[in-house]
Amino acid sequence: MAFQQAFFSLEGKTALVTGARTGIGQAISVGLAASGAHVLLLGHRDNLADTKAKIGEVNGTCETVLIDLSETSSIREQLKPLLENHEIDILVNNAGVIYREPAVDFDENEWNRVMDVNINSVFILSQEIGRGMVERGSGKIVNIASLLSFQGGVFVPAYTASKHAVAGLTKALANEWAAKGVQVNAIAPGYIETNNTEALRNDQDRSKSILDRIPAGRWGAADDIAGAAVFLSSKAADYVNGHVLVVDGGWMGR
Ligand code: NAP
Repeated sequence: MAFQQAFFSLEGKTALVTGARTGIGQAISVGLAASGAHVLLLGHRDNLADTKAKIGEVNGTCETVLIDLSETSSIREQLKPLLENHEIDILVNNAGVIYREPAVDFDENEWNRVMDVNINSVFILSQEIGRGMVERGSGKIVNIASLLSFQGGVFVPAYTASKHAVAGLTKALANEWAAKGVQVNAIAPGYIETNNTEALRNDQDRSKSILDRIPAGRWGAADDIAGAAVFLSSKAADYVNGHVLVVDGGWMGR
């Protein structure tokens, strides 16, 4: 028990999680809070009442931050008051959007929106929050990549390009910041039951062919990603740099 507390406790740490309203971001927020971190829940609309309630259930603490990550030109300005009031120890770049259309018809505005949310905002947040981590000589950044950081996917060219870029940026930042005490890593979730995969799960043929290839024999749950995020946010990962950790029920090994 003492071993676990020393290596995985996030007591005294402040974490910012983007896309904290639903799915994987919500599960990671609850996981970090349950491990002791104070969590800044970043969303762009509605409230984050459901996530706040779940964090209350594990006796965690949190507060909300509303920033639209598709409005990349205003993110830096909106971050300023947050950074004046908080030293952020852990940044989880989780927010992401997907848009499906055959490449020949793919809408340019959708291409730009996917790129803005999935990769351009990830660089801006990493730069603005990473700067303080580098100055203090410690910090953890966890980016949410995808199996489409390695594979091409079908009808999702912008998503695939953005997630390859997330893996590349993870390694690039890790190379610069590992010696400064800042660990930058990523998690590549497999097929997880969230809003992001609703269309896939509603397509019976695609859904069956996906399930048939998963050695674990089930789609993943958002909670399956939370433990990996706690690990990469903790002291246990102090010598893990630029790694993309696949959490996929065995898909990539098949
Ligand atoms: P999700 O439930 O749709 O979560 C996406 C989150 O991003 C939502 O909370 C959403 O908020 C937020 N978001 C969207 N646009 C935003 C914006 N402009 N500004 C701020 N926040 C915004 O789906 P998810 O599966 O949990 O996705 C989380 C991450 O995992 C994504 O990066 C996704 O690409 C990645 N991923 C998912 C899977 C999977 O199988 N589910 C697999 C690999 C990777 P609203 O709901 O309020 O719009």
